[in-house]
Amino acid sequence: MASFAPPKGTDDIVPPASAAWRAVLREWDTWAERFGFGLLMTPVFEATELFARGVGESSEVVRKQMYTFEDGGGRSITLRPEGTAPTVRAYLASGVQGAWKVAYSGPMFRYERPQKGRRRQFYQVGAEHLDSEDPAADAAIIELGYRFLEALGVPGVEVQLNSLGDPEDRPAYLTILRTWLEERRDELCEDSRQTMELNPMRVLDCKACAPLLADAPTPVAHLGEDAASAYAAVKELLTEAGVPFVEEPRLVRGLDYYTRTAFEYVATELDAAQTALGGGGRYDGLAEAIGGRRVPGVGLAMGIDRIVLAMGGTQATSPLDAFVVATPGRDRHARGLVSRLRLEGARVDIADRGRSVKAQFKAADRSAAPVTLVVGDEWDQGEITVRRMADGTQETIGIEEITQWLEL
Ligand code: AMP
Repeated sequence: MASFAPPKGTDDIVPPASAAWRAVLREWDTWAERFGFGLLMTPVFEATELFARGVGESSEVVRKQMYTFEDGGGRSITLRPEGTAPTVRAYLASGVQGAWKVAYSGPMFRYERPQKGRRRQFYQVGAEHLDSEDPAADAAIIELGYRFLEALGVPGVEVQLNSLGDPEDRPAYLTILRTWLEERRDELCEDSRQTMELNPMRVLDCKACAPLLADAPTPVAHLGEDAASAYAAVKELLTEAGVPFVEEPRLVRGLDYYTRTAFEYVATELDAAQTALGGGGRYDGLAEAIGGRRVPGVGLAMGIDRIVLAMGGTQATSPLDAFVVATPGRDRHARGLVSRLRLEGARVDIADRGRSVKAQFKAADRSAAPVTLVVGDEWDQGEITVRRMADGTQETIGIEEITQWLEL
């Protein structure tokens, strides 16, 4: 092989940078469990039709970004570009009746022009609450994502909120919007002129046309009675839960299936290209679009790549509590100590056998463990030497004091 680099637009996520990824995945598990979401794992590939029908033929994802191929059996297969359509498919396949709350994490695939925070294989965490029409489900999903980002210490997170209305409200609104856009066709960018034909609402999202669109008719100003009262309820519930949000009437999402609630988590302190950490909304028509019965639902998805960028290395905690160094002839004792400490819950490591003490200290340094435990002749008196790596100070302590000393 001429090069060991991963394919264009993909990454190897390796230590020590991957420590932040591990922290994100753990935090996600913690919060998903606290909010009552079970674990869901679905295949990374699905029948192409699922995304064509589920995500929507007019979305950019389906039009331009899918990794689609024919498998050995002549089936058209697509690497999943997102997790919601697979979740709804899994719900319909499982035979479950009634509410279903599930959370997932894993790789997604989109053929994009790669840049920082925009990858061809990227990672999402997500949660979906199926078979619920209650605005409380929308509010809880939004709160889940907000608490998760808050716990990770991501600075400057803003929740942007909108309502896209019910499918029944849409034809009337789209007529108004289309007319408005037609009148300004010459002032729109080339992309927007194209998008306008396929899905006029998506034009609202165009950054290049933003100044012009400031006065465009918005879906939230044309809500039917039911969608309007649902939107009011979501806002009230978020306020009661103490989740701050800003209303963003021009927020529409990239995928076609959203109805009513749409939201995004924006990192206001990041560069423009990667500010959208995640988002989601309600998709009451999705299950029917993929050929199932009506199953209303609401969900969120967030990109781990961007969350890690937004954390900006703030979570650079040591991956180890201690590193153990064995002086000559003390290897057996040192390894016994490592086993015992691991059983007690400590994160501990030790170098390969037969390395000099100097080489072991070098490994200890590289590991970034805050403490090195040196097993020497004082072991026979039930003692070891502990060295604080930050300032090089050391002292001798009783073996039984170690766990206390490591604050386990
Ligand atoms: P979406 O499924 O398009 O609503 O995206 C949800 C979140 O996934 C976005 O806010 C990003 O954080 C992340 N995301 C989407 N596409 C990419 C990509 N190509 N590379 C990295 N992250 C992405």
